[in-house]
Amino acid sequence: MNRRDFIRSSGVAGLSVGVPGLFSGKEERRPPSDRGSSLKVGFAERDITPDLGMEVPGTYVKTREWKIHDACKVRAAVFDDGRFKIALVSLDALMVPRYVVVAARKVIEEQCAIPRDSVLISASHSHSSGPTGMVQPGQYDGASPLVKKLAYEISSCANVGYVERVQEEIIRAVRDANSCRVDALCGFGAGEERKVSFNRRLRMKNGLTYTHPGQGNPDVLGYAGPIDPQVGVIGAWDQGGRQLGCIVNFACHATTNPGGFSANWPYYMEKTIRGVLGADLVVVFMQGCSGDITQVDNLSPYALPSGERWAQFVGERVGAEVVKVMVSIELGDGTPLDARAKLWRIKRRVPSPEHVRISYDFVQKNPNQVDTAEWVFAKEIVMLDALLKKDPEVEVEVQAIQVGPAVFLTNPAEFFVECGLELKSRSKFPFTFPVELANGCVGYVPTEEAFGPHGGGYETRLTSYSNLEVSAGRQMVEAGLELVGQMTPGKVPTPPKASPFRPEVGLFGATPWSYGNVPPQID
Ligand SMILES: [Zn+2]
Repeated sequence: MNRRDFIRSSGVAGLSVGVPGLFSGKEERRPPSDRGSSLKVGFAERDITPDLGMEVPGTYVKTREWKIHDACKVRAAVFDDGRFKIALVSLDALMVPRYVVVAARKVIEEQCAIPRDSVLISASHSHSSGPTGMVQPGQYDGASPLVKKLAYEISSCANVGYVERVQEEIIRAVRDANSCRVDALCGFGAGEERKVSFNRRLRMKNGLTYTHPGQGNPDVLGYAGPIDPQVGVIGAWDQGGRQLGCIVNFACHATTNPGGFSANWPYYMEKTIRGVLGADLVVVFMQGCSGDITQVDNLSPYALPSGERWAQFVGERVGAEVVKVMVSIELGDGTPLDARAKLWRIKRRVPSPEHVRISYDFVQKNPNQVDTAEWVFAKEIVMLDALLKKDPEVEVEVQAIQVGPAVFLTNPAEFFVECGLELKSRSKFPFTFPVELANGCVGYVPTEEAFGPHGGGYETRLTSYSNLEVSAGRQMVEAGLELVGQMTPGKVPTPPKASPFRPEVGLFGATPWSYGNVPPQID
C-alpha cells in the first residue's frame, strides 16, 4: 500500500467513525460529536434463565430440561428523540403471551413514559428456553375433564411463576435502558448471510408440499419457497464513540438446540459480536419471518451437525455479518422516531363435526399403540374444539416502529418468509425489518398458497396453536403496509460529500495524484 492508498482507506465511510483509536484526525473526517444529534439511546439486559427441571416449550407434548448451556435473557433498547420515545424488547423465549405484553406495557407506560403502542416485545423463538407456552395457565379451566387432562397433563404448558418473572424482567430491562439513556448516534445497514438458513418446505412429486421430507428423499422436487438472507442492523454509539448496542434482524428458526437451556444460536451471534466490538455491547435480536425457515437443509447430501456445532455455525456466521455491517455504517441522528399499531380480531378455522368426532374417538386410544403424530393431532383438534367455544376469534396486533430510515413491522405469528419479503419489497422505507412473534403469539400463519391444492405440511395443520383463517397472512401484510403508508422515512446517514474535482495535482481527495497521471515508462 502506498501513501495515497493509505490516506484514501483511512477515510472510507465507517472505518473511523465512532471507533476510538482509528480516527485519523484528517480534516475530511469529523468525530461523531461534531455531527450533532437530538437522540438519546439506552440498552439493558436482564436474566430469565429458567430453573432446572422446568418445561421447554416447542412441541405439542411436555419436555423438561435439566441442564443450562447459556443464559436466557431479556434485552431492551430505548430510543428518545426528545419528542417521542420507543422501546424495543427481545426475549430468549419460544413465544411471548399477549397478556404479558399488555401488562408489561401498562407498567412501562406508567414508569418510563413510553406509550403502549411504542413498546415492541418480541420472542426470539428459542426452542431451548423457558416455559412461556404453549398452553397458558387457566386457558382450559372451563373445559371437560378429558380436555383438561390433554391440555394440562400432556401438552406443553406455561409456568405461572416463570411467566410472572419474565413479565417483571421485561419491565426492569426497559426501566434500566430508559434510565441509562445517553446522547447517541445511530447507523443503519444490512448484510447478507446465505449459508445458514433454508426453506424447510419442499415440493413433492405427488403435487403436495411437505415440511422436512428428509434428506435423500427421491420424491422431492425442490424447495417450495425462498429464504431471506438479509441481516438487518441498527447500531448505536455514544458521543465519545463507544458502541452501546445494536438491533439485529434475521430470519431463521432458533432450533439449533445446543443441549440445555440456551438462547440458542443467538447466543453465539452475541458472543461473536461482543468478541470483536466489545464485551458490554447489548445485542437485541428481532426474529425475522421464519415460519418456514430453519437451519436444516433437506437437500444437503451431508450428515447434519450436532446441536452445539450447528448453533455455533449459524450464530457465528450471522454475528460475523453483523460485525461487518457495524464497521461499515455511517452514523447519523437516527430520527425521527414514530410508532403506530393496528388491532383487530381474526377468526379461527373451525374443524368439521366429523373431524372433531373422529379426533375424540382417537384420543381415547393408547398413544403408544397408535401412530403418535396422528394421536397428537387428534389431541390438538379436541383442544381446539374446546377453545372455539370460548374464543372463536383472536385479537391480533400489527405494529410499525420507526427509527429514522428503518421501520420494524411486527406480527404475532410464525410468519412465512414470503410474507416478510413482500413487506420489504412494498415498503417505502430504506430499511424494513419484519419481526415475527411480537406482542403475542397466534401460531403459524402460512401463505394462502400453502393452504391451496399444492400446499400442505406441518405449518398448515389445524391445531390449538395454529388455527387462524386462511386470509390471516394477507390481512397482517396489508395492515403493516397501511401503517408504513402513514409514516415518513428519515434520511440514511451518508459520509460527507467529496469536494468538487480540481485539475491541479495534489496529494489526496478530488485532485489527480501527482504520481499517478503519467504515461508508461519502458526504459
Ligand atoms: Zn416454530
